[in-house]
Amino acid sequence: MSIFRPLSDPTEPNHYQVAGVNVICPHCRAQKFYESRVQCNIYESAYAENEYTGKMATALTCSRCTMMLYFSSKPNKVIG
Ligand SMILES: [Zn+2]
Repeated sequence: MSIFRPLSDPTEPNHYQVAGVNVICPHCRAQKFYESRVQCNIYESAYAENEYTGKMATALTCSRCTMMLYFSSKPNKVIG
């Protein structure tokens, strides 16, 4: 996966869940993230040789240390 461009501005940090599990930063253990939609360029030789296709993903940026986590399905925002 080579990198991406953000498609939306981050707003306030929130808590998120993926597959029923709270998202926790693996680096600093913070639990609040900024969400943004990103486009990943993934080389897919199975579908089209020598072509890059754009795939959408959701990036969660840690509000404390700025580490970025990527999910191909949209994480659930935890309200409250
Ligand atoms: Zn962090």
